[in-house]
Amino acid sequence: MTTIDASVATTIRLITNGQAPGETCTPELDKGPWQFDPTPGYGPGSSMHDVIPTGSPRQGALPEQYQVASNDELHARIRAAKETLGDRLVILGHFYQRDEVVQHADFLGDSFQLANAALTKPDAEYIVFCGVHFMAETADILARDEQKVILPNLAAGCSMADMADIDSVQAAWDELLSVYGAEPDAEGRAPIIPVTYMNSSAALKAFCGANGGIVCTSSNAKTVLEWAFERGQRVLFFPDQHLGRNTAKAMGVPLEQMPMWNPRRPLGGSTREGLLDAKVILWHGFCSVHKRFTVGQIDAARAQYPDVRVVVHPECPMEVVDAADEAGSTDYIRRAVAGATEPTTFAIGTEVNMVNRLAAEYPQHTIFCLDPVICPCSTMYRIHPGYLAWVLEELVAGRVVNEIVVDAGVQADAKLALERMLAAKPRD
Ligand code: SF4
Repeated sequence: MTTIDASVATTIRLITNGQAPGETCTPELDKGPWQFDPTPGYGPGSSMHDVIPTGSPRQGALPEQYQVASNDELHARIRAAKETLGDRLVILGHFYQRDEVVQHADFLGDSFQLANAALTKPDAEYIVFCGVHFMAETADILARDEQKVILPNLAAGCSMADMADIDSVQAAWDELLSVYGAEPDAEGRAPIIPVTYMNSSAALKAFCGANGGIVCTSSNAKTVLEWAFERGQRVLFFPDQHLGRNTAKAMGVPLEQMPMWNPRRPLGGSTREGLLDAKVILWHGFCSVHKRFTVGQIDAARAQYPDVRVVVHPECPMEVVDAADEAGSTDYIRRAVAGATEPTTFAIGTEVNMVNRLAAEYPQHTIFCLDPVICPCSTMYRIHPGYLAWVLEELVAGRVVNEIVVDAGVQADAKLALERMLAAKPRD
């Protein structure tokens, strides 16, 4: 994995537009995330105003020695623990993770790349996932039974994943089946197929597995929707409305046939006729990081750099995706930058840690985040070198802390939904 130079490892206060320092969305970002462990919220960053569900995992107090240690000391302790654990350990780092953590990762990637990367280390006893909760769950579903998956801070959830819970989705499903019935049409297609974005709990992946459904990522959402439409007349897509809408719209599904399901209203806020006409029923979830991007920011980037290439993530709102030059997954964005052969100006609509890392890795290009205010993913922010040092030193001492274990009752069905995704092939 590329090691990040310490001189660029400032995470929050890096340049945002290639020239000028940006402001942060909250001064609380300067504090250690352990300050927020006892508080019932996502912590500082883009999701801090979202409502965290009751019962979300809380992180216990981080031992003080890890709170007061300097970053240099923490890095030295992490390196020493890694060396001691050797091949028994693999550390995974998500693209949106801060550089101070990512520099210790054996693999850097998106959630599914990382879950698969863990499979390339079948002998590793410990998989330390520097990402968020649903990613660690996915790694546990795919890992061997003997492997232990560890999330350095249990409060690193995902506000989008938390917007769809199994009870609400089950209730929606029951209501939808009361409208559609359970019988297939003349072509053998089910009335409705559930599709969950990777950014969802293991329980929802299992729900899809058990109900003829499938998982998708932002890289393969179109292929997965094609798979679903071959088997069903319509789709219930959760939790991210924007990925569902942007993907289905690009496939030619009219917006009028994509009602949004509000779990607090009868029939999700639609009419029976509207649901019968629907092709994609969108859950009302969103990512607070990608919701920050606006058409106004794109206009400002184009005014400043007329030849700018605007590349955004499909979790952005539809009007932002429509106004951009390109939209694609984190891996698509990374490949777009890596593949540019001439010096290019990129305005990128995704999480700021990834944008800043690209800017540092590709100095021949001008790369900046579309949002001039620096506001990282608040849940990724909860992983800090202090937590990484803590979980690793506990492993060295023979203690496993913060293990993520997916219930055996949901594991098989969740794996089935993931395997369907892996088997789905693009039409062209
Ligand atoms: S960037 Fe958005 S979708 Fe990704 S982990 Fe953070 S809140 Fe969840």
